[in-house]
Amino acid sequence: MAQSLFVVDDDSCYGCGACIGLCPTSALSMKGLLAMVEQSKCVFCELCIPSCPVDALDIYAR
Ligand code: SF4
Ligand code: SF4
Repeated sequence: MAQSLFVVDDDSCYGCGACIGLCPTSALSMKGLLAMVEQSKCVFCELCIPSCPVDALDIYAR
């Protein structure tokens, strides 16, 4: 079965924090000026994705 992978584009993310509070499973956190995802907590709901002003968040099939 296809699995998904949630990724933060390290080069685009500038640490605004907009995505962090939107995650229903608290999978997102800040590490310095970079959003980090705890992969095992992400349920791929996509709620956070439109919140990013620089489109740094994406979900890929793997
Ligand atoms: S896709 Fe959903 S579960 Fe995953 S990090 Fe974004 S808000 Fe959280
Ligand atoms: S909303 Fe985008 S730029 Fe802001 S912390 Fe999240 S991933 Fe980084």
